[in-house]
Amino acid sequence: MARQHTGLQLDDVVERSPQKWVYLFNEGHAGMYDLLGVKGAGIAEMTNAGLPVPPGFTITTRACTAYYEESQQFPQGLWKQVLAALKTVEEQTGKHFGKKNNPLLVSVRSGAQFIMPGVMDTVLNLGMNDETVQGLVRLNGDERFVYDTYCRFIQMFSEVILNVEAGEFVRLLKQYKERAGARTEAEIPVADLKQLAEAFKQIAERRTRKPFPNDAYQQLQEAIEAVFSSWNNTGAINYRNFHKIAHTAGTAVTVQSMVFGNISSDSGTGVAYTRNPNTGKKELYGRYLPYAQGEEVMARTRNPLSLQSLEKNMPQVFQELQEIAQRLEQRYRDMQSLEFTVEKGRLYMLQTHSAYRTALVAVNVAIDMVEEGLISEEEAVLRIDPSQIEQLLLPRFDEAEKERARQEGRLLAKGVDASPGSASGKAVFDANRAEQLEKAGVDVVLVRPEATSDDVHGMIAARGILTVHGGATDQTAVIARGLGLPGVVGCHMIHVNEAEKFFQVVGSTRVVLEGDDISIDGLTGEVFAGTIEAVHPDFDREPGLQKLLSWADRFRKLGVRASIDHPRNLGRAVAFGAQGIGVCRTEHMFLEQERLPIVQRMILAENKQERQEALDRLLPFQRSDFKAIFEAMMNPETGEGYPVVIRLLDLPLHEFLPSYHELLVAVTRMETKGEHTPELAQKRKMLEAVAAVREANPMLGTRGCRLGLLFPEINIMQTRAILEAATELAKQGKKLQPQILIPLVTHVSELQEVRRQLEAVAKEITAEVGSTVEYKFGCMIELPRAALTADQIATVADFFSFGSNDLTQTTFGFSRDDAEDSFLLQYVKGLRVPGMRNRIQILPANPFHTLDIDGVGRLIQLAAEKGRRANPHLELGVSGLLTNDPESIKFFHDIGMDYVSCPPFSIPIARLAAAQAALSSAKKEQVLPGKGI
Ligand code: ADP
Ligand code: MG
Ligand code: MG
Repeated sequence: MARQHTGLQLDDVVERSPQKWVYLFNEGHAGMYDLLGVKGAGIAEMTNAGLPVPPGFTITTRACTAYYEESQQFPQGLWKQVLAALKTVEEQTGKHFGKKNNPLLVSVRSGAQFIMPGVMDTVLNLGMNDETVQGLVRLNGDERFVYDTYCRFIQMFSEVILNVEAGEFVRLLKQYKERAGARTEAEIPVADLKQLAEAFKQIAERRTRKPFPNDAYQQLQEAIEAVFSSWNNTGAINYRNFHKIAHTAGTAVTVQSMVFGNISSDSGTGVAYTRNPNTGKKELYGRYLPYAQGEEVMARTRNPLSLQSLEKNMPQVFQELQEIAQRLEQRYRDMQSLEFTVEKGRLYMLQTHSAYRTALVAVNVAIDMVEEGLISEEEAVLRIDPSQIEQLLLPRFDEAEKERARQEGRLLAKGVDASPGSASGKAVFDANRAEQLEKAGVDVVLVRPEATSDDVHGMIAARGILTVHGGATDQTAVIARGLGLPGVVGCHMIHVNEAEKFFQVVGSTRVVLEGDDISIDGLTGEVFAGTIEAVHPDFDREPGLQKLLSWADRFRKLGVRASIDHPRNLGRAVAFGAQGIGVCRTEHMFLEQERLPIVQRMILAENKQERQEALDRLLPFQRSDFKAIFEAMMNPETGEGYPVVIRLLDLPLHEFLPSYHELLVAVTRMETKGEHTPELAQKRKMLEAVAAVREANPMLGTRGCRLGLLFPEINIMQTRAILEAATELAKQGKKLQPQILIPLVTHVSELQEVRRQLEAVAKEITAEVGSTVEYKFGCMIELPRAALTADQIATVADFFSFGSNDLTQTTFGFSRDDAEDSFLLQYVKGLRVPGMRNRIQILPANPFHTLDIDGVGRLIQLAAEKGRRANPHLELGVSGLLTNDPESIKFFHDIGMDYVSCPPFSIPIARLAAAQAALSSAKKEQVLPGKGI
């Protein structure tokens, strides 16, 4: 049972407590969101700005943390401080909590230091009981309003605080409505409402086997505890996991005197934005519901009206709201989202915080605010969440069109969202057919049980890829992302019949034949029948984003280059602002259909001559690839070429060859059937050859520079292709900066030998053409030994390129393909331990997504320092998946990297993140809470 209040002032009580747990609204401000939650801090800010805010107080997030630390007991002094603060609120309102005479009702509201909309608890109208109800009736003279509010309170308290299910309340209310022949609740006779209140209480008592708390103080105590507990309800935990918010932060609890939007027709409740949340336009935008309490606008039980209706019916209220909106924007220097209630024609503000917004709106608002003189260019750059702007760069389905497709029952299946973007096209079941149709100008979506290296040419031709098997990190997904091709993989809800060319939705009769239109959404994993209208963002026509990025470029120190696999990605890289190529991988160029058989012949060659023949045929392909890249990568300002780093071949051999197991099965089957055909002979030969180069652990086998040391002809061919392409262009007067990159070096001797090979080639070419081509020579640092001996390696290299992917694999000793879907997932999510309530987290984040600063990061830093000491001109770059992660980019900036190299789509993200890194190293950001959401 709760203790009654002591009559002491908050200050006196705080003095005797170990800590200040409670802040009256006028004791806080917006900057205190850590302690008061965004909601509590915003209410305090509004109170101090002199806005009409119903009085109240906020219990700190620290109290919530302490509550959990003290095995779910109120920390010492908390309740006393609550009672003292409540007394002040009674004085401020002239009302009395739990008393019959002019009773005070309060809301008890949750609110953490991050906005977590609707996932935690809030109760309204607390303090109602059989006596206070009498008092309210006497005061208002409106029994209907009072009993309506009483019913709402009992139901809400029961559901939210006592965890009683909603079902029985809803059913009973319906019965009462029907019995009275009422269409809405407002038509239920007062006598019935009184009965209903009693019946609601009985439901609660039956379910909880306890009397419904009649004592207002007990209600308050239980409500505060319930809000504390709601910090750990499943919804809240999931939300925090998703948004990477610490579970230890705790929620604040705001206790606020009630105002009533449900008391009269000139009362109501609403939400508003200081700018249009769909476009960013500077206009007050929102919804308003007359004759209603807060929850209803949110829960949409009735259809709210636009704010224009408020403007028409209560112009002064609307105008006041507009002025307040302006003032809050000025104070926060950011777009706000507001909650308000009107009681008998008087406006009350109940909440303000920085508004959620789409990337487009975020960018437009930031730019407008710079033009309005509200914020500086630096602040505008700091305000945009870099990961959010990816949305602006990818084709995506029009949401309304997608919703219509869903309603028309066209959603067929859902798989893994493997590569972002959306695509519509004709379903095609083999890669060659995809290529044919694409040449004929048809949009296709390639559908495969799983995609292998044989399908790459089909993927290049397609608008999207859909596979039944595979996960987000398998080869198909990686290639798709590299190509910028929207992809859904692991879609087990469909069954593909390759031979008959159709797929069927498992467990249904729905079938998609070759040539039928389908649509895939690589952002959500959804697969639809038919086409869906897409929005194609056009970077050139996003003036806001262009402007923001041009500001970012002025602030950043870190260079941003593109990582590409294929000349076809160049256009995008240039448009998105790449200042060169940080790494051009040559592996995928080899996988193209015309080239793959030649590559296979080269690998399986029985002698040097055979191998040389194959290489001679590959040379012209490579030369034209490289020429196209050099030509695209010209700096328009200087007329000179940007640096272009080309990495020599790095692929485990098995990825070029047919599968050993499939060959074995085919050969065995043919043999047992006694089919002695030429095909069998050919397959046998292939099987032998594949068996000969097969490795137990190809990722740590004959790949990288090892391949080029065993078969120098490959390196020589590629170097020749690079230098010949560069020479051709140099003859046309173009100044180029080719850089040749050697992968997977672990010992300086490896690099010395490769360098010797390449210098010989360069000399040959010089002799042939009569002029010298300048080039830089460098290596990947992607193995721990290379990092540790970077000083030795730097004496042979002009530049280092850190490969964050392989370096993470080898530093952790994790094979990414094996780790990510199994133990690594568990490490990050937390292990379930019998007898423990919380999961035990082993790693804070997936190190392939966010740089492991303590391990991999330090290794990179060490190598960078050693390298620069041994060779002061050493250029340092980094590539890999981490280069679109803002936190990792910050680290690379801080340790003085020269550039990051990332996939074309991530370039704008990296430009922005690099600017933020530079600005935040220069000075700490000064923005009020809730920014960037
Ligand atoms: P949420 O975090 O889910 O938005 P809130 O604490 O903001 O929850 O409360 C939910 C609704 O109740 C809001 O619409 C708010 O306007 C309304 N509300 C909260 N406190 C009061 C109050 N003291 N008087 C009137 N309405 C209130
Ligand atoms: Mg709210
Ligand atoms: Mg590598």
